[in-house]
Amino acid sequence: MLKCLPSNSVLLLLTTLFLLGLCSASHATFEVGTTSSSPTPIGQGTQYIEAPNAEQTIESILSNEPRWQTSTQQIFNRGYSNSDWWLKFDVINIGSDSQFYLEFDYPVLDYLDVYLVANNQIIEKHFMGDKLSFSERPLKHRLFILPLDLPSSQNIRVYVRAKSSSSLQVPIKLWHPEAHRQADSATNLVHGVYMGGILVIAIYNLLVYLTLRDKVYLIYVSYICSMLMFLASLNGWSFQYLWPESTSWNDTSTLIFLNGVLLFAVLFAKYFLKLSELKNQLSLQANILSAICLAAMLCYLWFPYNYSIIFLIPYAAFSCLWALSVGVYAWYVGQKSAGLYVISWTGLLVGGILLALSKFQIIPRNVITDQSVQLGSLLEAMLLSFALAQRINHERSGRIEAQEHALAVQKQANDELEENVAARTKELEIANQRLKELSDTDQLTGIKNRRYLDQYVDQEIIRARRYQHPVSILLIDIDHFKAVNDNFGHLVGDICIQAVASELSTQLRFPTDLAARYGGEEFCIVLPQTALEGGIVVAERIRKRIDQHVIEAEGFDQTVTVSIGIYSAIPEKTDTAKHFLENSDNALYSAKHNGRNRVESFQTKHQQS
Ligand code: GH3
Ligand code: MG
Ligand code: MG
Repeated sequence: MLKCLPSNSVLLLLTTLFLLGLCSASHATFEVGTTSSSPTPIGQGTQYIEAPNAEQTIESILSNEPRWQTSTQQIFNRGYSNSDWWLKFDVINIGSDSQFYLEFDYPVLDYLDVYLVANNQIIEKHFMGDKLSFSERPLKHRLFILPLDLPSSQNIRVYVRAKSSSSLQVPIKLWHPEAHRQADSATNLVHGVYMGGILVIAIYNLLVYLTLRDKVYLIYVSYICSMLMFLASLNGWSFQYLWPESTSWNDTSTLIFLNGVLLFAVLFAKYFLKLSELKNQLSLQANILSAICLAAMLCYLWFPYNYSIIFLIPYAAFSCLWALSVGVYAWYVGQKSAGLYVISWTGLLVGGILLALSKFQIIPRNVITDQSVQLGSLLEAMLLSFALAQRINHERSGRIEAQEHALAVQKQANDELEENVAARTKELEIANQRLKELSDTDQLTGIKNRRYLDQYVDQEIIRARRYQHPVSILLIDIDHFKAVNDNFGHLVGDICIQAVASELSTQLRFPTDLAARYGGEEFCIVLPQTALEGGIVVAERIRKRIDQHVIEAEGFDQTVTVSIGIYSAIPEKTDTAKHFLENSDNALYSAKHNGRNRVESFQTKHQQS
């Protein structure tokens, strides 16, 4: 048939068909009512225009249709924009139920006007958006939901005006009310689990803080509470339940809580990872970031949302990366608790990435991806709580180790001190012993001296008196010693004195017998428990031994003789050492007198009778 037509007519027909096709493509119609279990997404194919100066009204649009553009996005998303955005789409109900919900799943939109038009006549208009108080919403829900009555098979055109100082996203869905209720309860369950979990963790850690008074717990509690409040604001819960009438605060609150999250995340990193001990520079960075955060928080109270958010988004990205990288650094340099810290931060980041991937439609969108930030932050909160507990454990074992080390050092010091004291005491005892021996010993002969002799005689007389034993005292004097000195010199004299002393010592048999130098060339021997007969035996033995002992000294080579006086008695009450020594001396005198080299005893009158 085409062949019959002239060529320019064919061209005209083709152009007309093409324009008709374009026209039909520009009027995207979304069919609802085929299935009641899943929503009908209204995204790709919707038409839109931008009105930068709010120059369009529904009336101007209806009277003078502007040049619409067709959206290729599943979710209409214009980022940050000050313009009014108009959307247009047709819906037709091909099912039997007429009740539907038109849902806008983005609770932070400032203005959201919806117009229903049939036959170019406005049949309904609704004004929503969080610049209006919560009570003005057609359905009291945290999201913007408009109940629609769509008569079967009737084409309804919907015009939407959206404007927001936050990122402009208009995710539209048409729901069967029952399906919406079911999906909503699943989402609410996830939110409930999240909020309940965070609250329990927050209360637990607050109690731990009250017990330990370690500020890192308070920072942690502030961090997770800020996160909870931020997500509650972003999801529309706080506007619904906490401040349904405070529209301007509702905008600011999202910024303030996000800022709080960042501030406490940075502070948490600083104190949890002990950055000041790790690297001073990192601690300084944390201080700078916190100061910027605090300053920004004050600014939000005066600056409009759209300016504040331009600063906050890159700042948030930077702070998150900073908090993660200092954790990785701390882990790298061997900080034990840093491992869990990094893993928990990664949990939150994975949540964020999942959300982003689903927003860009790289992965399918579902309850898990939608709530991935909440799940990530809950996981993060749990892991960080665990990391805090692990930190106490590390610190406690560190403290115990330090205590044990201190105790070991102290014990070692005590042991060393005791050893030293014992060694010093021993040395001192030896020195004292040596000193005593020196003070008791005669320097020339090495036998006991006069001082010791006097004490010994005193002591033995007392003992002998108590036990009624006899004591013998011998006084020994070298004969004609002056001549030895005179003829051979004092040195030879000294050698003779030493030889006699040595002979005396060797002749004593009992440990209680004592030989001492009495003075000059005179010696004394004390024989406890020895009567006169025994004393005479000892004296004679000594006398004979000395008489036979040839002393070899520088040409001397002779013997010397000794005279011995002996007194022996059981001491009486009045008898003293002096008395015993005098009597021995008298006997010695007799021995000298009677010809020397002999033993004489002293006998009292009582003994003689
Ligand atoms: P006698 O037989 O009467 O005892 O005659 P003696 O020459 O031994 O007389 P006396 O006992 O009085 O002599 C003591 C002399 O002993 C005097 C002194 O020269 C000498 N003498 C005293 N002490 C020492 C001494 O430590 N070393 C020397 N070499 N001689 C001494
Ligand atoms: Mg003498
Ligand atoms: Mg003499």
